[in-house]
Amino acid sequence: MRQLVIATQNTHKLDEYRQMLEPLKTEVYSLADFDIDDIEETGDTFEANARQKARALKKHTDMLVIADDSGLEVDALGGLPGVRSRRYSDKATDDANNEKLLKAMENETDRAARFVAVICLIDEHGEEHVFEGELNGYIHTACTGNGGFGYDPLFIPVGHTETLAELGPTIKNKLSHRARALRKVLDFLKHHE
Ligand code: IMP
Repeated sequence: MRQLVIATQNTHKLDEYRQMLEPLKTEVYSLADFDIDDIEETGDTFEANARQKARALKKHTDMLVIADDSGLEVDALGGLPGVRSRRYSDKATDDANNEKLLKAMENETDRAARFVAVICLIDEHGEEHVFEGELNGYIHTACTGNGGFGYDPLFIPVGHTETLAELGPTIKNKLSHRARALRKVLDFLKHHE
């Protein structure tokens, strides 16, 4: 069976990946299985960070490696929090990040935003492949819903009236930026056995 390792310590992300990778019949591992601490992200773009994380992990394994970098871009904030999504507030917790975002968007009428995910896959030959997915939507006016993580309670996808935290994992994993990027990865892997 093909083996794949995902460069994340984020258990929410890992659950999403495992669910989405199920059809591939692949053994999925994470950083936790390798006893490696979370890998640094020092790039200015999602792609630079995804490549950086994938390369760092590839040094420890011959398996297929997947690393992603993702975040939220808000039009009215000039694309912030962007690559700084995880560390947007001083406390860098989901609650503090959402609170800071709500405050920054107070009285703002343009609420358009998008989630972006860039996945870097390094194959068994050491070649790098990059895939991108986006989900467009709007920033809600209050945190709503209990599911998901990060900015999910504030993000309403286009075509919906509820936040990702209300819509739940089955719908989120069909729509999400990560799902869209990962579908491209799955397609690639199907054609590169
Ligand atoms: P990273 O890709 O692990 O660096 O995470 C970036 C940050 O972007 C996360 O900590 C969240 O704040 C945010 N983020 C990325 N993907 C999602 C998502 O699917 N839902 C909500 N927030 C997300």
